[in-house]
Amino acid sequence: MNKRPTILLNPGPVTLTQRVRQSLLREDMCHREEDFAELMLEIKKRLARVYKEAVDEFEAVTVTGSGTCAVEAMIDSIASKEHTTLVLSNGVYGERIAAMLAAHGRPFRELRADWGDPIDLELAREALTYDGGIRQVVAVHNETTSGRLNDLAPLLDLCAEFEADLLLDAVSSFGGEWIDFSHPRLLAVASTGNKCLHGIVGIAFVMVRKTLFEQRSSHADGLYLDLFRYQATQIDGFSPYTPAVHACFALSEALQELEDQGGWHARQKRYQMLSEQVRDKLAALGVPTYLESGAYSSMISSFKLPRGWDYPALHDALRSRGFVIYAGQGGLYRDMFRICTMGDIEDGDIVRLLQAMEELICGRAKQ
Ligand SMILES: *Cc1c(COP(=O)(O)O)cnc(C)c1O
Repeated sequence: MNKRPTILLNPGPVTLTQRVRQSLLREDMCHREEDFAELMLEIKKRLARVYKEAVDEFEAVTVTGSGTCAVEAMIDSIASKEHTTLVLSNGVYGERIAAMLAAHGRPFRELRADWGDPIDLELAREALTYDGGIRQVVAVHNETTSGRLNDLAPLLDLCAEFEADLLLDAVSSFGGEWIDFSHPRLLAVASTGNKCLHGIVGIAFVMVRKTLFEQRSSHADGLYLDLFRYQATQIDGFSPYTPAVHACFALSEALQELEDQGGWHARQKRYQMLSEQVRDKLAALGVPTYLESGAYSSMISSFKLPRGWDYPALHDALRSRGFVIYAGQGGLYRDMFRICTMGDIEDGDIVRLLQAMEELICGRAKQ
């Protein structure tokens, strides 16, 4: 029997497959050589075809950094300097986007819902109706704070009604959930190589509607986050600054693996199946989910801490059995833990996890 590594049940970085780990051992490459340019062009092509609806209209522009880097590059390069941007937040990541707009001095209005609540489209409609100056809306697709999958279709329709463009943080959903790239109001989508795509940390990207580069100029205040600069040099596969070459090896392999495994659709099904096993078993053990059922994305679940357990005790007990779970953020630290099914997770891993949880929770209940 092969020995399993510690299984990461946090929402990225993920447990790597052997195939992706092995790709890191490729011969070193200089980023100013033709072979690297070919690799970068191949990555851009594969990213653009993860969703076949994106192939013709969108370009993947890669940046060096984590998911936040891609989101901030999108905001800095695209958010209007004159018109109000509407932020619909319901968790840590939506609030982070509002903080970015503030840091970059862009006019914005944030409609903040409680963490765990759905975004309020009626309030958004009101804001769009009474503030005629709003041209852009920003939201998080899969709000990792709670695991809630915000409903994109009605949001895109609302944007269409008011002729506003949507900028989307899909850092924890790209490659694992449906994103409607055929919708004309979707302007840009930020994500990363090391969540649902199963690469390593260090390369992130923004899918940008190609016409943006033709019709507008950059709004970026600085150089390093300016997507227009990356786009202009990446046409030939090069990069204005040193890219994370090894993260590119991993992402290229991870994208090939995703294609071999049947694409985002198959991955979503796999995540969903594992998440349902976890939710069903924990419900049977008396550990309720944090959100109402049906609200969750396929890959992130949040739970109330079982009676008699605080987060460090549960974390440490599972860690010593080979699993890393994830805490609630901010004030949720006291009430919540999260389990995420991204990455190289085998059926047997979930069986062992759920056995361990049963022993721990039932064991403590007896005391
Ligand atoms: C993880 C995450 C981010 C930030 O990504 P980092 O890689 O931690 O910088 C942003 N938005 C969402 C929805 C995320 O899940």
